[in-house]
This record gives sequence, C-alpha cells and structure tokens, in this order.
Amino acid sequence: MTSTEDMKELQGLLGSKKNILITTHTNPDGDAIGSSLAMLHYLRKIGHHVNAMVPNNFPGFLAWLPGTSDLLIYEKQPKLVQQYLQSADLVFCLDYNALNRVGSATDVLVSSTVPKVLIDHHIKPELESFKYALSNVGASSTGELIYDFIDMMGDTALIDKEIAEAIYTGIVTDTGSFSFAANNPKTYQITAELIDKGVDAQKIHRLIYDTFSENRLRLLGHAISERMIILDEYHTSLIYFTKEDLKKYDYQIGDAEGIVNYPLMMEKINMSILLSERDKQIRISFRSKGDFSVNDLARKYFKGGGHRNAAGGKTYISMEKAIDKIKATLKEYKEQLDYKLSY
Ligand code: MN
Repeated sequence: MTSTEDMKELQGLLGSKKNILITTHTNPDGDAIGSSLAMLHYLRKIGHHVNAMVPNNFPGFLAWLPGTSDLLIYEKQPKLVQQYLQSADLVFCLDYNALNRVGSATDVLVSSTVPKVLIDHHIKPELESFKYALSNVGASSTGELIYDFIDMMGDTALIDKEIAEAIYTGIVTDTGSFSFAANNPKTYQITAELIDKGVDAQKIHRLIYDTFSENRLRLLGHAISERMIILDEYHTSLIYFTKEDLKKYDYQIGDAEGIVNYPLMMEKINMSILLSERDKQIRISFRSKGDFSVNDLARKYFKGGGHRNAAGGKTYISMEKAIDKIKATLKEYKEQLDYKLSY
C-alpha cells in the first residue's frame, strides 16, 4: 500500500477540480462495475469531472445499477475514451492488478503518462505501473476498498444510496453472497453501514441473482448433465462449453457466470474448472474450496491468476488439447488436492 504521505498527496490533488478517468478490467464483473460506479458517483459528488470506461460490455444483471448508462465501452468508443484519457489529470484503476487486464485498452493505458491510482484486492499487483496504490489482498472486494478510500478522504457522510448500492454490489458478488473471502468482521461492519445508507439487501439479491432467462437456466442444466467431467483422483470437476453449446442456448454475456461454482457442492470436489470456447481462445475459470490455490495453477499454466479460491486464465489451443493439458497439469497437484474439509 502507498505510504501515508502519498495518500496525503493524492488527497491534496483531489482538493481541486480534476479531470478523471475511471478504468476497470475486461469482462467486468459485479465488483468491477460496482466499484467503478461508486467511484464515479463519489468523485462527481466532490466536484470532479469524471468519466468511467469498461473495456467491453458488462452482464445484463448489473444494468439496474444507477449510472451504468454513463459507462463508456472501450470496444465501441475507443476514440472518445482516448480523448478523455489525454485530457485526464488522474486515472483510477479499479479491481485489477496489472495494466494488461484492460483488454484492448491496454496499449493506450500503458503508453499514457497520466498518474494512475490503483485500488484493488488481487494478488501480486504490478505496483510499478501506478503512482498511488491502495492494494489490499485481504479485502473481500474492491468495493470494500472504495469504502476505505472514501473513509480515508473523510467523506463517509457523502455516501448516499447510489454509492452504497454500488459498493454493496461489489461486496456481495465478490463474496458469492458472503460465502467466500467473507471472514473479516470489517466486511460486515461496512455492509452494516451501507444498509444504514439505504441499501435493500434482499432487493439487490433478487436484482442480481433472480434474473435468469430460460436459456441461461437450461445452459446450467446442460453443463451439469452433459458437459461435466469428474476426475475423482484429483477431486476435481471440469465443465466445458463448445461454441455450439453457447449458440444452442443463445449465450448472452454473463450467462455462464456462477456455473463453475456448482461442482463444489459435491463433497468430494475441491476444485472446479470451467472452459468456455470463444472466438480465438478458450476462457478458463478456476474455483476451489479450502487451502488449494487456484491462483498458482492459473498463473503458472494458463496465463491468468486471481485469488486463492477463484481465478481465471486462458489458452489458445483446441478444447480437446486444453482438457488434456489440464489433466496432465493436475498430476503435479495430486497430493495438494487430496484433502477433506472437516470442522
Ligand atoms: Mn474484485
């Protein structure tokens, strides 16, 4: 984390009106969007000129969040975002740890000399890329760190319902509704504050989770009945989606979200992997329960990373070869994966 002096310096900068661009990671999730919107609302509220961009589109189950219509989608409006970047005094980098996480916007961000402010909870941040950093891998979510940031600015009184809902969305989605990365009392203290500010936790749960299309639910059924391979010796489950699968169920962004978590409901499974075939790559999600670190595996073999119990990666080989590669890789982790959760 950046020193107190640096934070004071940043606070000083924010003492006068600035042009600010907020950025987040590609394939933005609830925490990426929630953090970006919370920051957008907050920074505007204290008088700055602020724009926020996402590298590509976000899932429809987040569209209800106030302010989503203000988000610029880099893939659709690269020139406009580049203009905002050029005139920016500060760039906020939320919920990602390295500049190559912003997809097609990576090059322009890397070459920009505008001072960057990192607020993030991913392991091993590339700190050299950022002038200021609020990095805490122990935080449940970047949403929680946005709260901390506003708190450091002495502005929690400015947190209104909109800001609170955005922060809450980050916390609730990144903890799987308080089921992982959720052992820190502080997360609940902040959540209590947010509810005090007007968050309706039950309503938000419905808005985020009870929004399936029929196709999305059928894709889940298909995944489990037709596309799930159980590798008993490694306590691992592997689900794969081909392009044809996604087409058959009229795949929309976000439809595969959460499917990777289902196999962990089996007592014998410690790791769940989901492979999804896209245009030029196969996207891979890893989840684990207990001590096994999917971050290490994703980082070492699949150009990715994330957290101990949740990580992502990718590969450019065929589905068949990707599955073979995973099976071969798992041999190295056989002992590590052989455990049983006990009370
Ligand atoms: Mn996050």
